Amino acid sequence: MSGIYIHIPFCKQACHYCDFHFSTTLKKKGKLVDALCKELVLRKDEPIGEVQTIYFGGGTPSLLSSEELEKLFKTIYSNYTISEAPEITLEANPDDLSTEALAKGDLSVKSMKEVGINRLSIGIQSFFEEDLKLLNRVHSVDEAFECVEMAKEHFDNISIDLIYGIPGLSDVRWLENVHKAIAMDIPHISCYALTVEPKTALKAFIEKGIIPAVEDDVAQNQHEILLRETEKAGYDNYEFSNFGKPGFYSQNNMGYWQGKTYLGIGPSAHSYDGDQRSWNIANNSKYIDEIEAGILPSEQERLSSKDKYNEYVMTRLRTQWGISLDEVRDLFGKERHDYMLEQAQPHIDTGYLAIISSSDSAKKNSIEQLIVTKKGKFLSDGIASDLFLIEPA
Ligand code: SF4
Repeated sequence: MSGIYIHIPFCKQACHYCDFHFSTTLKKKGKLVDALCKELVLRKDEPIGEVQTIYFGGGTPSLLSSEELEKLFKTIYSNYTISEAPEITLEANPDDLSTEALAKGDLSVKSMKEVGINRLSIGIQSFFEEDLKLLNRVHSVDEAFECVEMAKEHFDNISIDLIYGIPGLSDVRWLENVHKAIAMDIPHISCYALTVEPKTALKAFIEKGIIPAVEDDVAQNQHEILLRETEKAGYDNYEFSNFGKPGFYSQNNMGYWQGKTYLGIGPSAHSYDGDQRSWNIANNSKYIDEIEAGILPSEQERLSSKDKYNEYVMTRLRTQWGISLDEVRDLFGKERHDYMLEQAQPHIDTGYLAIISSSDSAKKNSIEQLIVTKKGKFLSDGIASDLFLIEPA
């Protein structure tokens, strides 16, 4: 299994917390789309095999016009082998998919359906105007509701994003956010703790005392509210930040967590081929110029065996399936398997990690998995780092 990720590096305005690569000048959008098509052609012989997922992320992919989407899909389908029923996701901002925007905009539901988009990931973040204003989101609460209603009319597979740990967001308001999301009866919710990244407006506001910092225990409490309420509503917390009804887990994200290969197209996009990571330049003009000249503007890094082990531990522990002890032994050898268990023991003793057994009827044996317990979930990244190899490869 492999995936194609396409980065659309444009946004209408900069959210205060965001450190992704994007430009708020849309002047070069047409040229950039041409460059994306050219990069897809330049890389068509990379051995990624059959593609099961295509993901348009950003930035704001819902800023693409119907014609631009069609051009990209035509290029993808004529240069890559796509599986019979791929998952094709478009990230969208609510203001681009409101009734009014769709009526007068360049993107139509008809064209999204025609090119094969079958999953929408909508960046709602909060159902309260004060939060949207603090985050400098471009959409309103009304647009968020309208957008989800429209999406439900035309798509079955819908995800919305919410953020907790926003300065000033009380537990009561967060609970209301979670309840509103659940009441919408959508099959997938992604929830992220707000992180204060360097060089963002949010960081500057906090440093100047304009906005208060959020303590870890506030975010942790809101995470616990989230776990409790989504579980009651029948969502599986299949990855730390992701909650899905059975049958609606994100295949694209599962690919990342299971170490599958993917091709990242566009400025700042990352790729992984099983041994090597590469990343494109995070600059729209330079990206366009180099691609036009037939050069791939990317840097590469070959992963050592230690890097692969650490990534394996980090990504698997965030999922509900955790780490298969047999797989660690097969992939990395007995010594690393034993090292991992030794490092895990203190967390097993405190109840943050557990080893569970399940039976594999095909192999007629039992499988042991190391998982993060509910108690340890909020701390899972720190726990994973305690299992890392830190000696030279
Ligand atoms: S819309 Fe998304 S990518 Fe654009 S600035 Fe906001 S968070 Fe960042």
